[in-house]
Amino acid sequence: MDQFKTIARYRDLPLAELAKSKLDSEGIYCFLANKNHVGANWLVSFALGEVKVQVKTEDAEVALKILNKDQSSELIEIEETFPALTQNDLCIKCSSSNIVLLNTTRKAGAFSLLLGLPFIFFRKRYKCIDCGHIMNQKSNNL
Ligand SMILES: [Zn+2]
Repeated sequence: MDQFKTIARYRDLPLAELAKSKLDSEGIYCFLANKNHVGANWLVSFALGEVKVQVKTEDAEVALKILNKDQSSELIEIEETFPALTQNDLCIKCSSSNIVLLNTTRKAGAFSLLLGLPFIFFRKRYKCIDCGHIMNQKSNNL
């Protein structure tokens, strides 16, 4: 019979699910203990010791390395993919400089990191605050 070991605890179910997805994608068998209790009543998580990510004892060391892997270099890639806006960036419709990178795109980037999915599924989109136009590319012609 396999022995299981708790390698991580999460107060919130979505974070535990993300950790499980990450381990699943690396071929590490794991399950979430207390998942249904915490999902049904969040306050129960304190009494039960939160949602536990459990793996086979022999996989524990590798699983911990996967969960604790430093992904800061991937954050740099996201910054390069979504360069910061400058004063020269203009709306292609009304030429306003009052444009922002859509938050959903940044959230998608962060989500992509957590799940280990390739970033190519997400495209950069900008929104003009003044006219509301959403564009895939900003103009930087002055
Ligand atoms: Zn505009």
